[in-house]
Amino acid sequence: MAEGRRALRFAIIGAGMAGILSAIKLREAGETDITVYEKADRLGGTWRENTYPGLSCDVPSHLYSYSFAPNPEWSHRFSPGAEIQAYFEHVAREHGVVDLMRFGDAVDSCAFVDGRWQLRTARGHRDVVDVVIAATGVLHRPRYPEIEGLDSFGGAMFHSARWDQGVEIDGARIGVVGTGSTGVQIVSALVDRVARLSLFQRTAQWILPQENPAYTDEQKEAYRADGEQLREMHAHLAEVFGMFAAAVVDADSPQIKAIEEMCLANLESSVPDPELRARLRPDYRAACKRLVISPNFYDAIQRPNAELVTEGIERIEPGGIRTRDGRLHELDVLVLATGFETNAFTRPMMVTGRDGMSLGEMWAKRPNAYLSISVPGVPNFFMLNGPNGPVGNFSLIEVAELQFDYILQLIEELQTGRCREISATRAAMDAFEAERVDATKHTIWMTGCRSWYLDDRGIPASWPFSFARFREEMAAPRMDAFETRT
Ligand code: NAP
Repeated sequence: MAEGRRALRFAIIGAGMAGILSAIKLREAGETDITVYEKADRLGGTWRENTYPGLSCDVPSHLYSYSFAPNPEWSHRFSPGAEIQAYFEHVAREHGVVDLMRFGDAVDSCAFVDGRWQLRTARGHRDVVDVVIAATGVLHRPRYPEIEGLDSFGGAMFHSARWDQGVEIDGARIGVVGTGSTGVQIVSALVDRVARLSLFQRTAQWILPQENPAYTDEQKEAYRADGEQLREMHAHLAEVFGMFAAAVVDADSPQIKAIEEMCLANLESSVPDPELRARLRPDYRAACKRLVISPNFYDAIQRPNAELVTEGIERIEPGGIRTRDGRLHELDVLVLATGFETNAFTRPMMVTGRDGMSLGEMWAKRPNAYLSISVPGVPNFFMLNGPNGPVGNFSLIEVAELQFDYILQLIEELQTGRCREISATRAAMDAFEAERVDATKHTIWMTGCRSWYLDDRGIPASWPFSFARFREEMAAPRMDAFETRT
């Protein structure tokens, strides 16, 4: 710590992608007094929790990597989940931040008292810190469907993010509820292993075909030998993703039309049976829901042992799922690929700001934050991938890196002693939110579909501007948007 700088103690909550990043970056910035609280027994966040067959990331692996830790060893363009988990473990180890992590201890509450944060964990541990970084994730808390008789099922039943590895899948009769990215990946991975696969579709999805080639040994060798190639690939993929990001926030853009045409051509060319094709054809625009990427879903659902069930679910019974036409679909295993509670953010952790107001109270209607990072009256508390951030259109790693560099500049205000408390002003948060909500009108997410992007008002809880604007905003905080106390 440079002379004259205030020594700060940090708590990072969550040891997933963003928590690992925060620990590494704080260390690089010269900070040493850091604890990463992790409720589970190992790091990895999403990639620890999700172990379902077929799991991969729909952001290409060479883009879904930290900019400071390119990985020549990625096996595929979209590498499997276990490999991504191993990558995070490797990076955390290499950067020496695992020792900062306190596993198996969930932070229950954080209260801002007399200028510092008092933390209490589920195991009764107490801590006092100057700065809290909430790296608690977005798609984290499983959403269970409200279907009559859910608990009466006689076979094995679990949410996709709670996959029970002890359950025999091979040769079983499997039911999958949900046709999001998760359900589609599970169906494609399982169909050839099971006796029968029934996919319960409430809403058809647009599917963008993307091949997933393996990298050859020669390619990996070339990446190992020449880091420049990896950096170029990262930059190229970021550019391609930037185009996608620009498309989704402009529903009239030629790019979004091109995506729609690709999805439609995929459906038309892959599904010859007109009756099945009609049931698989969505009645809303492509990318209105999160676009599902799959090279082989249509093949999978046309296998002789697969069935697309579009009749609504009446109830769940001990023997399987009863649809509204009175038919019982007999099942041994039922997988609920029904998504996540997308507005939980830091909750259920109890966060109490300066005036005794909790985030739970402030967010009673819906979560909100200035630039998704800082909440008025909650000083020295910064979120990564917080409310209304760029969740739908970018690599969340790139997002978190940019956000953290921004947060570091706020922390700098505390380190230098220019202030002791810093949080966004209400005026800045409200003005940003008004502008954000207005901009969502132009996005593809508002063109008429149900999706996890939409909040309780039907407004996308996401970043509706360009990625260039995001970079610009993250480059340097506008200090007049922050209230400081000395
Ligand atoms: P999701 O996109 O929220 O999909 C949930 C699915 O469950 C939808 O098909 C939904 O139907 C259905 N559903 C929910 N309640 C239901 C009910 N009561 N009855 C019948 N169906 C019901 O969740 P997800 O697939 O887990 O994906 C969430 C997000 O995680 C993705 O959008 C993506 O951002 C990320 N993800 C990415 C990858 C990847 O990188 N490849 C993989 C998995 C997840 P409706 O459409 O009718 O609402």
